Amino acid sequence: MGVRLIIMGPPGVGKGTQGEFLAERFGVPRLSTGDMIRAALQAGTPLGERVRVYYEAGELVPDEVVLGLIAEAFDGSEASGGFVLDGFPRTVPQADGLGELLADRSIELDAVLSLEAPEEELVDRISGRRVCGACGLVTHVRAVGANAPCPECGAALAQRSDDRAETVRNRLAVYRAQTEPLLAYYARSETGLTAVDGTGTLEAVRDRLFETLHMAEVAG
Ligand code: AMP
Repeated sequence: MGVRLIIMGPPGVGKGTQGEFLAERFGVPRLSTGDMIRAALQAGTPLGERVRVYYEAGELVPDEVVLGLIAEAFDGSEASGGFVLDGFPRTVPQADGLGELLADRSIELDAVLSLEAPEEELVDRISGRRVCGACGLVTHVRAVGANAPCPECGAALAQRSDDRAETVRNRLAVYRAQTEPLLAYYARSETGLTAVDGTGTLEAVRDRLFETLHMAEVAG
């Protein structure tokens, strides 16, 4: 049985990495609107060009754009057996839109997870984050050293254009203003909200998530 999960949390908390662990564990795709947007930016599609200014400034792209991306993913065969939503929804209208998309398809969420970490740690994690353009590895300058190549494939590591210090602060402010209200939104919902401590090693956070889902009887 596939699971249907949302993983929420501020920028830099580890949604992408942990979302990938969860997706692998349950054999379902991780649907990341951030990754979809980066792919469109890189490919220079009309959608990419439309959202570039928002992305580069650390602002949210318009709700209808991300709702369209998610609807497309739901309508493909890829997500029919379950999914982990990463970085979506990020606003109340997006959560309402998701509710409609799910209801139309008679799909219910199994859990909404909220990863949490103190703000100083988030800023440190994001400003040190490096991504491999070739194999997609996400790492940290502390782990690999400044200007080092990718430890997996040897290609160059780069900083995401929206991970620069001045943009990071805006992304955190945007998160507090627009996305944080969703925690109460889901806490009130039938699915409820499950908060998980996002501090510590990748493995410690992963095990905490697995344990939480196990206790919630989402996972066997
Ligand atoms: P992420 O990779 O999830 O940190 O997203 C990076 C950027 O992509 C965000 O700062 C936004 O500009 C855009 N983005 C990703 N997901 C969403 C979303 N659900 N709603 C609006 N903008 C998004």
